[in-house]
Amino acid sequence: MRKPFISANWKMHMTGTEAVGFLADFLPAVKDVSDVDIVIAPPFTALEAVAGHTAGTNVSLSSQNVFYEEKGAYTGEISPGMLKSLGCAYAIVGHSERRQLFGETDETVNKKIKAVQAGSMQPIFCIGESITQREAGQTNDVLGGQIEAGLQGVDISALVVAYEPIWAIGTGVTATTEQAQQTHSFIRRKLSEIFGAEAAEATRILYGGSVKPDNVDDIMACPDVDGALVGGASLKPDSFARLVNFRRSQ
Ligand code: PEP
Repeated sequence: MRKPFISANWKMHMTGTEAVGFLADFLPAVKDVSDVDIVIAPPFTALEAVAGHTAGTNVSLSSQNVFYEEKGAYTGEISPGMLKSLGCAYAIVGHSERRQLFGETDETVNKKIKAVQAGSMQPIFCIGESITQREAGQTNDVLGGQIEAGLQGVDISALVVAYEPIWAIGTGVTATTEQAQQTHSFIRRKLSEIFGAEAAEATRILYGGSVKPDNVDDIMACPDVDGALVGGASLKPDSFARLVNFRRSQ
């Protein structure tokens, strides 16, 4: 059984003070949830404030990015060890915004995944196709390539995959449940080809792209969708709590 995993990606939103205000409402609303891994990825500058209020709760901490070296002359970068020391259990790696705006490549994603695991955290490995690629029928090739290159030499027993179609991120357009299920099932087959059926069956594959309170139940009901990575709808405590409390199917 794969435990559902719901993660907030706050992107470049929330100061430490705002984050503490969010948690004052959010933590009580989810305190009894034990059947979902609940994760928040604040900006680096709010990690410490969030860690101070989530330590000892059922909410875990993730970074939104990480560098693959442990220390050195890398101005502006943050290492796995630094994140671990703040209490991060996860690090988002390869988000499409980082690939598109900040030059992240499959090669750097692969290095980051290995560094995160070496630092005893789990990567949340993001993959996704553009609308042009989907319309050209290239979705499986693009995702297959990202998986092969990003996960080369990686042990997937300590890793979460996030499928985020670029055309659905922050646009209000969500993949249909058929598109999500079909693509997640392809991703699992691809993982199975590379890592074997048992490892693929055990790997959680999140969906990300305009997940909201009014579509989360349908998305989470797809058999190969094991959770969600959520941007916009994770910024309000009641909205994110509703996502964590998605309708469980029997
Ligand atoms: C994201 O950036 O990871 C994301 C899925 O954003 P949104 O939920 O706003 O589409």
